[in-house]
Amino acid sequence: MRVLVVGGAGYIGSHMVKSLLQRDCQVTVLDNLSAGYRDAVKGGRFVLGDLGELDVLEEVFRAGQFDGVMHFASHIQVGESVREPARYYRNNVFKTQHLLDVMVAHRVRCFIFSSTAAIFGEPARIPIDEDHPRNPINPYGRGKWMVEQMLADYDVAYGLKSVSLRYFNAAGADPQGELGERHEPETHLIPLVLRAAAGRLPQVTVFGTDYATPDGTCIRDYVHVTDLCEAHWLALRRLQEGGDSVAYNLGNGNGFSVREVIETARTVTGRDIPVVYGERRPGDPARLVADARRARAELGWEPRYADLATIIAHAWRWEAR
Ligand code: UDP
Repeated sequence: MRVLVVGGAGYIGSHMVKSLLQRDCQVTVLDNLSAGYRDAVKGGRFVLGDLGELDVLEEVFRAGQFDGVMHFASHIQVGESVREPARYYRNNVFKTQHLLDVMVAHRVRCFIFSSTAAIFGEPARIPIDEDHPRNPINPYGRGKWMVEQMLADYDVAYGLKSVSLRYFNAAGADPQGELGERHEPETHLIPLVLRAAAGRLPQVTVFGTDYATPDGTCIRDYVHVTDLCEAHWLALRRLQEGGDSVAYNLGNGNGFSVREVIETARTVTGRDIPVVYGERRPGDPARLVADARRARAELGWEPRYADLATIIAHAWRWEAR
């Protein structure tokens, strides 16, 4: 298969590129390197460019003859999206529309979209299935939900088929140790905890201890990046076989609190991890856990690395390098 991976130099995109190459796909990566790394792209054709540059997009599609497009390029920080909504809507919504329009023009009809649990907002029930009300509470989540709605319209009008994959908490690293998470600045819990374990940070701050959860800290559903990539592959194959447009929630269905993550990291690393307890971070729901039964049933998705200790062990191997 010939696949365009937009954002293929980023955290999840770079793992995806590796997995497509292992499947003998012809891969083209388009990335502006605003948050990605050229050396994380382990093969294929690399094009340095931005979705805002229509001439670059045209050129990529003229050369490509793609069977499918996977779109990982987006800004991902909730707090920043509240402070700078213009940046988020421009990058995550308008530029995505550029991409869709070029796909329509070149009759490329299979699109895999990186969506998020943030489209649900404050959960009304747990676990969260696909039909849970979509009620995003920040510009990041609203932008992703806008694109999902746009995709439904593009299907009706132009026959563009899509699978929106709503990640819960992407975590872990390439099991072979070749790739991992490299956000700068890093804001995610597991890499920060591991930096504290490695002595690269003095401590980790727990954001809030008064949530309505058993130990007072927030509960999240951590899902291994390699398992997310597997779901993308299965989704693309499904569209290739004539499947309809659809959205899936991707998580393991197990929630872990911030304290449990830190405790597991202590066990996995054998290191001391200094902790301080701070205020809540605005916009954090107490509990986010996926009901991913639809992806399992319809895609045959079977997460291989569902165990939190394994997820942290893979991330630790990367961090320790
Ligand atoms: N968190 C924390 N300290 C940190 C970073 C995150 O306590 O330094 C908490 C955060 O409040 C949330 C959970 O860890 O409850 C996961 O946060 P992360 O930013 O990794 O992912 P998110 O859930 O925001 O997608």
